Amino acid sequence: MVNLSDSGFTPEQTSYLSGFVSGILQGRELPFLGQDGERRFTHEPDQSVYGTPLEDLCKEERIKHEQNGLDCWDAIIANAATNEFPKDGDVFRYKFHGLFFVSPAQESLMLRCRIAGGALTSEQLRGLAGVAEKWGPGHADLTTRANVQIREIMPENAPNVLMALTDMGLTSQGSGADNIRNITASPTTGFDPDELIDVMPYARAMHHYILKNRDLYGLPRKFNISYDSGGRVSVCADTNDIGFYAVKVGENDKGIAPGIYFRMQLCGITGHKQFATDCGVLLTPAETIPVAAALIRVFIENGDRTNRKKARLKYLVDDWGFEKTLEETQKKLAFPMRYFPLEDCAPSLPKSKHGHLGIHQQSDGKHYIGVLTPVGRMSVQQMLALADVADEFGRSEIRLTVWQNLIIPGIPEEKLQAAITAIQATGLDHRNNAITGGLIACTGSRGCKYAAADTKGNAITLGNHLASKMILDQPVNIHLTGCHHSCAQHYIGDIGMMGTRVKVSDGSTVDGYNIVLGGGVDDTQAIAREIWNGVAFEEIPGLVEKLLCTYLAQRENDESFAAF
Ligand code: SF4
Repeated sequence: MVNLSDSGFTPEQTSYLSGFVSGILQGRELPFLGQDGERRFTHEPDQSVYGTPLEDLCKEERIKHEQNGLDCWDAIIANAATNEFPKDGDVFRYKFHGLFFVSPAQESLMLRCRIAGGALTSEQLRGLAGVAEKWGPGHADLTTRANVQIREIMPENAPNVLMALTDMGLTSQGSGADNIRNITASPTTGFDPDELIDVMPYARAMHHYILKNRDLYGLPRKFNISYDSGGRVSVCADTNDIGFYAVKVGENDKGIAPGIYFRMQLCGITGHKQFATDCGVLLTPAETIPVAAALIRVFIENGDRTNRKKARLKYLVDDWGFEKTLEETQKKLAFPMRYFPLEDCAPSLPKSKHGHLGIHQQSDGKHYIGVLTPVGRMSVQQMLALADVADEFGRSEIRLTVWQNLIIPGIPEEKLQAAITAIQATGLDHRNNAITGGLIACTGSRGCKYAAADTKGNAITLGNHLASKMILDQPVNIHLTGCHHSCAQHYIGDIGMMGTRVKVSDGSTVDGYNIVLGGGVDDTQAIAREIWNGVAFEEIPGLVEKLLCTYLAQRENDESFAAF
């Protein structure tokens, strides 16, 4: 038995270390020290998880309690040796490493990366293309969290895929399950003429803070954080659990130094028809990381672990209110949070709808080109070619957007035409299309077991139909999501669709959608309202065509579709 009594440690430290050593001797998970100095075990000594008795835990909480998902590397290796898929609780634990067993939609694993602020180097894009080519399906998908997913990975290749990611300076840790998802940031930050501050350093700092703090895994449910720089392209920060919005504070009588700060908005969860709301707090950029961490720790300790439907931050805040939530957060901070009226902050400029596409001048006089990647899918050849474009004409960087497409920054005026020619040679285009420029689709039934419809396939069919029938002079956003999980955020689309099975005359079912209209985000914030229920997809291209034609015929002046 190890004796720590003569070690010179304080009684608390001795107690902690005794637990540490006995945990190892019993073959249990390693305990770790929380930010507040408390001991934390995967196997809680008091047989509860943050006060919830074991018998009350929901299924996923029991799995996490049995073994921390971060510690299933042995299972990943063992299953690779026999090329077997994870079983039982390991299906959930694999998601802690960004690996999703997507059976029965596909008998394979899907990799979801983690790309802070959606910023990739050209070398990393090549590396991802290599993963997709060697171990995946020959293509990759851009997601609505400015992230990359690669499908059709077999268990025997999973360790190599994860090691390759690390080798190229990326990770997938915590990109699935009950963890803090990819940190998003305004995609033009750092070179946006309209922005108030470059938020990439803070998005990166948040990303690394999470990676380095083991107690920030295994939340009651998933958690989203986003930084809006005040720039021209929306990052949909108000759809996140925490949305940090840059604002300018001028001279005031409240004792706050003029400068650039962040407002903190809380509890965006549009699948539950709720945007994030300003909670009255004003933070310096550097304060955003400890405040987010403190709030997340409050959520970890107090969120519902018995009912998955009530386990998001929103439900804790609904129960407690902002006041108590912020009081509990304050207790974990070494500095006081600053309160300041929202109306005393200068409003940001409106966002540019579809500003993620086309050619735009940067703050340094160079240009960025937004490239349309239909429903987010890119072949390996396109990925390699775009990496070459970024190297040859830009600054060897690619920015992913939450609109399922990408931006190549840093292109001097004299190289623009050559860059455009090279982009078009890949089969992609930079030109905005008022319909397809905002056509978003989740994975759908070809790759997700929850899907009621082939969202990506249907979106392409719909986009092609509309593009062949009309010229729209105002951008519209059309979002197709396969189920109520709302990965494609149908409630923020001008036209949103949620998949459902529709019965036809012979008794079988076909792809169909419930259709909502009138959604928006940021300065056009609105939750779309359901207009049609259970429409078979084959009727939808004609229906949407009629809808848009009615808009074109009856709008007043250049009234937007959202206003119409
Ligand atoms: Fe799958 Fe549903 Fe998410 Fe679409 S919205 S990817 S169907 S979970």
